[in-house]
Formats: sequence, structure tokens, C-alpha cells
Amino acid sequence: MNLVDINTLFGTEDKCRELLVRLRFPEGPRCLRCKAPAVELETEKQLFYCKDCDYQFSVTSGTVFNDSHLPLAKWFLTTHLLCEAKKGMSACQVQRTVGMSYKTMLDGKVEIDETYIGGKARRGLPRTEKQVVIGIRQRNGELRLIHVNEATSEAIRKVMAENISEDVEVLLTDESSIYPFAFTVDQKKLHKTICHSKEYVVGDVHTNTVESAFSLLKRGIVGTWHKVSAKHLPAYLEEMSFRFNRRKNPDLFLNTLRHMVTAPTLTFQKLTKEKAA
Ligand SMILES: [Zn+2]
Repeated sequence: MNLVDINTLFGTEDKCRELLVRLRFPEGPRCLRCKAPAVELETEKQLFYCKDCDYQFSVTSGTVFNDSHLPLAKWFLTTHLLCEAKKGMSACQVQRTVGMSYKTMLDGKVEIDETYIGGKARRGLPRTEKQVVIGIRQRNGELRLIHVNEATSEAIRKVMAENISEDVEVLLTDESSIYPFAFTVDQKKLHKTICHSKEYVVGDVHTNTVESAFSLLKRGIVGTWHKVSAKHLPAYLEEMSFRFNRRKNPDLFLNTLRHMVTAPTLTFQKLTKEKAA
């Protein structure tokens, strides 16, 4: 699907709602309050009604779409842009605009590793400085690539705080001394290291999955690094990890919409309460 298809298929509120109904209620509309089967009211606004508990709702009730003044058709276009944009289209900017900016935190078994990009003199081109990229990869899950100024414990600590859940089960790194200093007391208990000079894999303890992502990144950069300045590296990393994470998911657009219409809305009040608890 391209932008024109989206506009043709989902150019009106009704068409958008129809799809959201199918995504939210695949087995027919259910009351949001008591889960009993609901009926559709014959109104212009496409409302549903539950006889059991006398509750009236729409397909967007309790979702991120509900309190938005943005027409659904625009939400759909924005979502499509966010899902498809090869250059990241400043995904952060889109996320901020449409209000779904909370990145999920990585948990389970998480590998962390650092790599260096550039730094070689090329004929006729100015010498570039080596850029540090931190890779974080949840086993069987998402990859994130983050550009930092220096590979220091402080930088790692910041990246971890922004990307790794407190519920993480295992933290896997190599034996670099920057990691133990970056970890909190609790994180140190979860830390397992692999000694690269001796062997690569000891049972489950390895950082191979993040390293395979690094090698893809480097392959992508070979020959184009002179065009990828440090300034544009974050956008490049965003693009690369975006493609990497959706390589097995051609239905990202539908899945994203489904998530938006089924995930409970997170309000600021709820967020701050949960953090405080
Ligand atoms: Zn009900």
C-alpha cells in the first residue's frame, strides 16, 4: 500500500471507522465495559450500544484517537508515513505530533554492545572521526542503535535508562570495563559477560545478535560513509534499525493501527501514578 492507496481506501471517516471496527472487534462489537455483545445504533456517528449495562460507545472510545481533533483519515496517513518512511521521516517528530511518543522499554534478555563507525582517511576526503554507536537488542525482539559522543559508562547509563526496562531479566555484554560502572546495583546482579578473546558463545551467554545487527549496519555504510556525516548518523541509525525491526513484518501499518485501537490509553495521570507506586 502506498500513500495514494491509503487515501483512496481510507479517505473518509466512515471508511476509517470500518477498518478500526474490524481491527478492534474481529469477532463482532463487544461492550467495552461488560464485554457483552453490543449492537450498532443507526446514527451518523456509528455508535454501539450494550443492552446489558446500558452503555454507549464508539470504536475509538478509550483509544488514542478519541480525544483527538485530527480526523481519522489524517491519523491513517500519518500512521502510514510513520510506518513506511525509509528515512525515518523524523519518526520522533511524527510521534510527538500524533501523541504516541512513549517508546516501550526493552526487557527479557538484552544484549548491549558498542561499535565504531568511520575514522579512516579516504583519498581526497577529510579524515572523519570515529563515531560511537551503542547497540541494544532484546533477544527475539527489537534492536536500537544509538549514537553517543564517547563510549563512557555515563553514556551507557543514559542510554540504558532511556531504553531498558527495570524488569529486564539478563544484561549481556562483553568484558569491556565500561559496563560494570554503568550499571546500577540491581543491574549488576543481572549482568553476564562473554570473553571474546577466548570464545564467542558459552551456552546462552553471547552478544551475537547485536553483533549481527552491527555487521549489517557496517555493510550498509561501506562506500557511503563519506556521505554519512556525524550529524546525519542518528537519522541513518534510525532508518537502519527501523528497517531491521520490521524486516519480518510487512503488515506494520495494520498492526500499528490495531495496536492504537486496542491498547489502553495511557494518560499522564496514570503514568505518573504508576511511576510513583
Ligand atoms: Zn455492557
